[in-house]
Amino acid sequence: MRILLTNDDGLYAEGMSALVDVARQFGEVKVVAPDRERSACGHSMTLRDPLRAQPVDYDGLAAWEVSGVPVDCVNVGLELAWPDGCDLVLSGFNHGPNLGFDVTYSGTVAGAMEGCINGIHSISLSMALFVSGAPLHFETGIRWAQERLGALIEHKLPPLTFFNVNVPAIAYEELRGERVVGMGQRVYQERLEIRSDPWGRPYYWQGGVVAMSGDQAGTDVEAVSEGFVSITPVSLDWTNHAAIRDVEAALNR
Ligand code: MN
Repeated sequence: MRILLTNDDGLYAEGMSALVDVARQFGEVKVVAPDRERSACGHSMTLRDPLRAQPVDYDGLAAWEVSGVPVDCVNVGLELAWPDGCDLVLSGFNHGPNLGFDVTYSGTVAGAMEGCINGIHSISLSMALFVSGAPLHFETGIRWAQERLGALIEHKLPPLTFFNVNVPAIAYEELRGERVVGMGQRVYQERLEIRSDPWGRPYYWQGGVVAMSGDQAGTDVEAVSEGFVSITPVSLDWTNHAAIRDVEAALNR
Protein backbone atom coordinates (compact mmCIF):
# COMPACT_ATOMS: atom_id res chain seq x y z
CA MET A 1 0.00 0.00 0.00
CA ARG A 2 1.30 3.46 -1.00
CA ILE A 3 0.79 5.93 1.84
CA LEU A 4 1.17 9.71 1.89
CA LEU A 5 1.56 11.36 5.28
CA THR A 6 0.99 15.01 6.06
CA ASN A 7 0.03 17.23 9.00
CA ASP A 8 -0.37 20.90 9.92
CA ASP A 9 2.09 21.03 12.81
CA GLY A 10 5.14 20.74 10.59
CA LEU A 11 7.35 17.90 9.38
CA TYR A 12 9.32 17.83 12.62
CA ALA A 13 6.36 17.81 15.00
CA GLU A 14 6.21 14.95 17.46
CA GLY A 15 2.80 13.94 16.13
CA MET A 16 4.31 13.25 12.70
CA SER A 17 6.94 10.96 14.14
CA ALA A 18 4.14 9.12 16.00
CA LEU A 19 2.19 8.77 12.75
CA VAL A 20 5.27 7.50 10.91
CA ASP A 21 5.69 4.82 13.60
CA VAL A 22 2.15 3.61 12.94
CA ALA A 23 1.97 4.03 9.16
CA ARG A 24 5.08 1.95 8.44
CA GLN A 25 3.20 -1.22 9.40
CA PHE A 26 0.61 -0.65 6.68
CA GLY A 27 2.81 -0.09 3.64
CA GLU A 28 5.34 2.14 1.92
CA VAL A 29 5.32 5.58 3.50
CA LYS A 30 6.32 8.96 2.07
CA VAL A 31 6.02 12.16 4.05
CA VAL A 32 5.13 15.58 2.65
CA ALA A 33 4.54 18.16 5.36
CA PRO A 34 4.78 21.91 5.99
CA ASP A 35 8.14 23.39 6.93
CA ARG A 36 6.57 25.08 9.98
CA GLU A 37 3.42 24.98 12.06
CA ARG A 38 0.31 25.81 10.05
CA SER A 39 -2.45 24.97 12.52
CA ALA A 40 -5.91 26.44 11.88
CA CYS A 41 -5.17 27.18 8.20
CA GLY A 42 -8.28 25.21 7.24
CA HIS A 43 -8.66 24.05 3.66
CA SER A 44 -6.65 26.94 2.27
CA MET A 45 -4.13 26.60 -0.54
CA THR A 46 -1.22 28.68 -1.76
CA LEU A 47 -1.98 30.41 -5.05
CA ARG A 48 -0.05 33.69 -5.15
CA ASP A 49 3.34 32.54 -3.89
CA PRO A 50 5.71 29.90 -5.25
CA LEU A 51 5.87 26.63 -3.36
CA ARG A 52 9.25 25.19 -2.43
CA ALA A 53 9.54 21.48 -1.71
CA GLN A 54 12.82 20.46 -0.16
CA PRO A 55 13.53 16.72 -0.33
CA VAL A 56 14.81 15.43 3.02
CA ASP A 57 15.48 12.08 4.62
CA TYR A 58 12.98 11.38 7.39
CA ASP A 59 14.16 8.44 9.44
CA GLY A 60 15.01 6.57 6.23
CA LEU A 61 11.81 7.60 4.45
CA ALA A 62 11.50 9.83 1.41
CA ALA A 63 10.13 13.15 2.62
CA TRP A 64 9.55 16.70 1.43
CA GLU A 65 9.45 19.85 3.50
CA VAL A 66 7.00 22.22 1.81
CA SER A 67 6.71 26.00 2.18
CA GLY A 68 2.93 25.71 2.22
CA VAL A 69 -0.15 24.39 3.99
CA PRO A 70 -1.47 20.80 4.16
CA VAL A 71 -3.55 21.11 0.96
CA ASP A 72 -0.37 22.19 -0.86
CA CYS A 73 1.49 19.26 0.70
CA VAL A 74 -1.03 16.70 -0.55
CA ASN A 75 -0.96 18.15 -4.06
CA VAL A 76 2.84 18.39 -4.08
CA GLY A 77 2.94 14.85 -2.67
CA LEU A 78 0.74 13.47 -5.43
CA GLU A 79 3.12 14.99 -7.96
CA LEU A 80 6.53 14.36 -6.37
CA ALA A 81 6.12 11.48 -3.93
CA TRP A 82 3.49 9.36 -5.64
CA PRO A 83 3.23 10.44 -9.31
CA ASP A 84 1.53 7.14 -10.14
CA GLY A 85 -1.06 7.61 -7.41
CA CYS A 86 -1.34 6.53 -3.82
CA ASP A 87 -3.80 4.44 -1.84
CA LEU A 88 -4.04 6.26 1.46
CA VAL A 89 -3.56 9.75 2.87
CA LEU A 90 -3.01 10.01 6.63
CA SER A 91 -2.92 13.45 8.25
CA GLY A 92 -1.79 13.92 11.85
CA PHE A 93 -1.36 13.21 14.66
CA ASN A 94 -2.49 16.75 15.36
CA HIS A 95 -1.31 18.30 18.61
CA GLY A 96 -4.82 19.01 19.87
CA PRO A 97 -8.43 18.03 19.19
CA ASN A 98 -10.33 18.41 15.93
CA LEU A 99 -13.88 17.95 17.13
CA GLY A 100 -17.14 19.39 15.84
CA PHE A 101 -16.66 22.72 14.08
CA ASP A 102 -12.88 22.45 14.52
CA VAL A 103 -13.09 20.37 11.35
CA THR A 104 -13.68 23.58 9.39
CA TYR A 105 -10.63 25.38 10.84
CA SER A 106 -8.25 22.45 10.96
CA GLY A 107 -5.30 22.11 8.61
CA THR A 108 -4.94 18.51 9.72
CA VAL A 109 -8.48 17.68 8.65
CA ALA A 110 -7.95 19.68 5.43
CA GLY A 111 -5.07 17.33 4.55
CA ALA A 112 -7.47 14.38 4.67
CA MET A 113 -10.12 16.42 2.86
CA GLU A 114 -7.72 17.10 -0.02
CA GLY A 115 -6.81 13.43 -0.25
CA CYS A 116 -10.51 12.60 -0.36
CA ILE A 117 -11.16 15.17 -3.10
CA ASN A 118 -8.42 13.45 -5.09
CA GLY A 119 -10.33 10.18 -4.74
CA ILE A 120 -7.95 8.68 -2.19
CA HIS A 121 -9.01 6.97 1.03
CA SER A 122 -8.08 9.50 3.71
CA ILE A 123 -7.97 9.69 7.49
CA SER A 124 -7.17 12.61 9.81
CA LEU A 125 -5.96 11.82 13.32
CA SER A 126 -5.74 14.12 16.32
CA MET A 127 -4.72 13.84 19.94
CA ALA A 128 -7.55 15.44 21.88
CA LEU A 129 -5.89 17.38 24.63
CA PHE A 130 -7.91 19.88 26.61
CA VAL A 131 -5.50 21.15 29.22
CA SER A 132 -2.78 23.33 27.74
CA GLY A 133 0.65 21.98 28.60
CA ALA A 134 -0.58 18.55 29.70
CA PRO A 135 0.99 15.49 28.02
CA LEU A 136 -0.36 14.69 24.56
CA HIS A 137 0.01 10.95 25.15
CA PHE A 138 1.11 10.09 21.61
CA GLU A 139 1.87 6.60 22.90
CA THR A 140 -1.89 6.12 23.33
CA GLY A 141 -2.55 7.27 19.77
CA ILE A 142 0.19 5.01 18.44
CA ARG A 143 -1.05 1.95 20.30
CA TRP A 144 -4.70 2.53 19.41
CA ALA A 145 -3.78 3.06 15.75
CA GLN A 146 -1.52 0.00 15.63
CA GLU A 147 -4.44 -2.12 16.79
CA ARG A 148 -7.43 -0.42 15.16
CA LEU A 149 -6.43 1.83 12.26
CA GLY A 150 -6.15 -1.21 9.97
CA ALA A 151 -9.92 -1.68 10.18
CA LEU A 152 -10.52 1.93 9.09
CA ILE A 153 -8.00 1.57 6.27
CA GLU A 154 -9.78 -1.56 5.04
CA HIS A 155 -13.27 -0.06 5.29
CA LYS A 156 -14.62 1.21 2.00
CA LEU A 157 -16.36 4.55 2.53
CA PRO A 158 -18.91 6.12 0.16
CA PRO A 159 -17.46 8.63 -2.34
CA LEU A 160 -16.39 12.04 -1.00
CA THR A 161 -16.20 10.74 2.55
CA PHE A 162 -13.19 10.50 4.84
CA PHE A 163 -12.55 9.56 8.45
CA ASN A 164 -11.84 12.09 11.18
CA VAL A 165 -10.41 10.39 14.27
CA ASN A 166 -9.76 11.92 17.70
CA VAL A 167 -7.87 10.01 20.37
CA PRO A 168 -8.28 11.31 23.93
CA ALA A 169 -4.93 12.43 25.35
CA ILE A 170 -5.00 10.01 28.28
CA ALA A 171 -3.03 6.92 29.27
CA TYR A 172 -3.82 3.89 27.09
CA GLU A 173 -5.11 1.99 30.14
CA GLU A 174 -7.72 4.70 30.71
CA LEU A 175 -9.04 4.51 27.15
CA ARG A 176 -12.60 3.13 27.26
CA GLY A 177 -12.79 2.03 23.62
CA GLU A 178 -13.99 3.70 20.45
CA ARG A 179 -17.26 5.07 19.12
CA VAL A 180 -18.40 5.84 15.60
CA VAL A 181 -20.15 9.17 16.02
CA GLY A 182 -21.31 12.34 14.29
CA MET A 183 -19.73 15.77 14.28
CA GLY A 184 -20.66 17.66 17.41
CA GLN A 185 -20.73 21.35 18.12
CA ARG A 186 -17.76 22.87 19.76
CA VAL A 187 -18.31 26.51 20.52
CA TYR A 188 -15.64 28.88 21.74
CA GLN A 189 -16.37 31.59 24.27
CA GLU A 190 -14.47 34.85 24.61
CA ARG A 191 -12.95 34.17 21.21
CA LEU A 192 -11.27 37.55 20.80
CA GLU A 193 -8.95 38.84 23.46
CA ILE A 194 -8.24 42.58 23.33
CA ARG A 195 -4.76 43.59 24.42
CA SER A 196 -2.74 46.72 24.29
CA ASP A 197 0.73 47.20 22.76
CA PRO A 198 3.44 49.30 24.50
CA TRP A 199 2.15 52.39 22.68
CA GLY A 200 -1.37 51.91 23.92
CA ARG A 201 -2.74 50.72 20.61
CA PRO A 202 -5.15 47.81 20.80
CA TYR A 203 -4.39 44.47 19.19
CA TYR A 204 -6.37 41.28 19.18
CA TRP A 205 -5.55 37.69 19.86
CA GLN A 206 -7.89 34.90 18.82
CA GLY A 207 -8.14 31.73 20.80
CA GLY A 208 -10.94 31.42 23.26
CA VAL A 209 -12.09 28.95 25.82
CA VAL A 210 -13.92 25.95 24.48
CA ALA A 211 -17.36 25.45 25.86
CA MET A 212 -17.59 21.67 25.67
CA SER A 213 -21.16 20.61 25.83
CA GLY A 214 -21.49 17.07 27.13
CA ASP A 215 -25.17 16.77 26.34
CA GLN A 216 -24.75 16.19 22.61
CA ALA A 217 -25.38 12.47 22.48
CA GLY A 218 -23.73 10.50 19.71
CA THR A 219 -21.11 13.11 18.87
CA ASP A 220 -17.34 13.20 18.71
CA VAL A 221 -17.35 15.81 21.50
CA GLU A 222 -19.24 13.48 23.82
CA ALA A 223 -17.25 10.36 22.93
CA VAL A 224 -13.87 11.97 23.55
CA SER A 225 -15.00 13.67 26.76
CA GLU A 226 -16.03 10.25 28.02
CA GLY A 227 -12.68 8.68 27.19
CA PHE A 228 -13.50 7.02 23.85
CA VAL A 229 -11.70 7.39 20.56
CA SER A 230 -14.14 9.14 18.20
CA ILE A 231 -14.40 7.97 14.61
CA THR A 232 -16.46 10.24 12.34
CA PRO A 233 -17.13 9.59 8.66
CA VAL A 234 -17.19 13.15 7.29
CA SER A 235 -18.87 13.96 3.98
CA LEU A 236 -17.64 16.65 1.65
CA ASP A 237 -21.20 17.23 0.53
CA TRP A 238 -22.11 20.12 2.82
CA THR A 239 -25.56 20.56 1.28
CA ASN A 240 -28.48 20.55 3.65
CA HIS A 241 -30.56 18.30 1.41
CA ALA A 242 -33.61 18.51 3.64
CA ALA A 243 -33.66 22.31 3.19
CA ILE A 244 -33.60 22.27 -0.62
CA ARG A 245 -37.34 21.66 -1.09
CA ASP A 246 -38.32 24.20 1.54
CA VAL A 247 -36.14 26.90 0.00
CA GLU A 248 -37.35 26.02 -3.48
CA ALA A 249 -40.98 26.20 -2.37
CA ALA A 250 -40.42 29.50 -0.58
CA LEU A 251 -38.77 31.07 -3.62
CA ASN A 252 -41.51 29.92 -5.99
CA ARG A 253 -44.42 30.86 -3.77
MN1 MN B 1 -2.09 21.49 14.38
